[in-house]
Amino acid sequence: MNSIKDAKRVVVKVGTSTLAYPNGKLNIRRIEDLVKVLSDLKNQGREVVLVSSGAIGAGVGTLNLPSRPSEVRMKQAVAAIGQIELMNVYRKFFADYGHHVAQVLLTKDVVDDDHRKENAIETFKALLSLGVVPIVNENDVISYEEIEFGDNDTLSAVVASLIDAELLILLSDIDGLYDSDPHKNENAKLIQVVEEITDEIKHMATGSSTKQGTGGMTTKLKAAEIATSRGINMIIANGNNPSKTLYTIFDEKPCGTLFLGKEKLKRM
Ligand code: GLU
Repeated sequence: MNSIKDAKRVVVKVGTSTLAYPNGKLNIRRIEDLVKVLSDLKNQGREVVLVSSGAIGAGVGTLNLPSRPSEVRMKQAVAAIGQIELMNVYRKFFADYGHHVAQVLLTKDVVDDDHRKENAIETFKALLSLGVVPIVNENDVISYEEIEFGDNDTLSAVVASLIDAELLILLSDIDGLYDSDPHKNENAKLIQVVEEITDEIKHMATGSSTKQGTGGMTTKLKAAEIATSRGINMIIANGNNPSKTLYTIFDEKPCGTLFLGKEKLKRM
């Protein structure tokens, strides 16, 4: 397997349930911990791209709404409010550790069009060459069914492919992929390594979903298919304690579920 420890270009995706409390307010302590370790990974000489959900969640918190809106227009409006809230917090924390951030908002039509895709790739390259941390989200404000990724798991795998990352880490509120639903079966076993995404593996992804985000295990497996087919290793791990999780991963100790990138498998 290609070394995780030596992965130079890394995409980290964090879900809403990791970034915000159930009431929508941002979990400042966890975000600061995440930013601290990402800054440290950068100081080690890596390039880091953060794919962050939480725009709608943060908007709900900012406006003290009783729950996440279900109507599309409202979601877009709330995302517009939450996105700047989120970026403001990231910018402050990254600045504390000496790093600059950039906001990149994407919709699916950008990567479906060769010319626009090339443009996006070049901009990512320019941002990385400037040493900043691009923070990516779906452009929820203008996205609608035909042009949306729909979930940030898929978006993060697309971003990892665009920039030829070596490693994609999805931080979520679950420890990884289990052989059965751990909420229903206390004997459910965590799968540590997936070499091939077989039908059996897909069956294990029971479509679990959190109240706050949009993704579940199904979208994470879809992300794994995109990433691994491009030779990118992908890990699903618990984001409750970002520094512990990320340092464990880069120490190459078992953590979450690792999906081996395909081309790298062949090179073994
Ligand atoms: N783009 C959405 C947001 O920032 C999140 C999508 C997702 O949770 O996958 O709220």
